[in-house]
Amino acid sequence: MRIILMGPPGSGKGSQAKFLVETYHIPHISTGDIFRENLKNDTEIGKIAKNYIEQGLLVPDHVTDEIVKQRLDKPDVENGFLLDGYPRNVAQAKALLEMLQERGWQLDAVLNIISDDEIIIERIAGRRVCKKCGKIYHVINHPTEIENLCDVCGGEVYQRTDDNEETVKERLKVYYKETEPVIDYLRNIDSSIVLDILGNGTIDEVTKKIKAWLGDKK
Ligand code: ADP
Ligand code: ZN
Repeated sequence: MRIILMGPPGSGKGSQAKFLVETYHIPHISTGDIFRENLKNDTEIGKIAKNYIEQGLLVPDHVTDEIVKQRLDKPDVENGFLLDGYPRNVAQAKALLEMLQERGWQLDAVLNIISDDEIIIERIAGRRVCKKCGKIYHVINHPTEIENLCDVCGGEVYQRTDDNEETVKERLKVYYKETEPVIDYLRNIDSSIVLDILGNGTIDEVTKKIKAWLGDKK
């Protein structure tokens, strides 16, 4: 299964990603996670990406396309993958389609989670993430049992530097201007692989819809 997961920041992509990679046994390729890993390790890529991420802007395409290309060359991708956070503009979508063509691969699904801006801002400003295992919490809707400690692994729970209201608004602006057109671009190529899902319901409701649709496809 080769899946692209699309949707604005805070639309619940992370939760659906978890279900998809576990169900289909495919690696989760999140460009955001790859950049954060590079930031943590203070690599060359991390140094380039830092300012863009903190301002809520896209890291330049040549950098992002290259990290995806290298990731697609790893052996675990042969049975499929879940792309999360990429492609984020039409140029990246074209670059991806070229990478797939070179490898003789077809896309199976483009999952487009739709959400309201107010819900997004509320979700992201309260979002907290475990440093160790990546589990996502929310200060009001889903707090940790012990303050700032992950329920699952005991790791430290923190707020991403780009999860503040000002940066979220910028990320949303970038999303509607640059990323939303990617969905129509891909829809024009093959509308049968695109699923639009309203992401305002619970995580489980959204998961059920995705499951039913993917089940019918196979
Ligand atoms: P979000 O919660 O907004 O979906 P991500 O974790 O996917 O966030 O990405 C965080 C940041 O990393 C983005 O705001 C952007 O600066 C950078 N980034 C991630 N993916 C890409 C990409 N495909 N192209 C350019 N920049 C990216
Ligand atoms: Zn944890």
